[in-house]
Amino acid sequence: MSVKDLCHVCGEPASSRCDSCGGAACDSHYDAGSGLCVECEGGRRFS
Ligand SMILES: [Zn+2]
Ligand SMILES: [Zn+2]
Repeated sequence: MSVKDLCHVCGEPASSRCDSCGGAACDSHYDAGSGLCVECEGGRRFS
């Protein structure tokens, strides 16, 4: 897979895309479990 966008949170090369907002996100700002970026995760906290 090739995602050429940059993470909308930090600007690093993104590897995934948020299912909610559609924004590109890097591994650090994307939760594969929920399929959401950290911003859409919102109040929920990573454990
Ligand atoms: Zn990022
Ligand atoms: Zn999002």
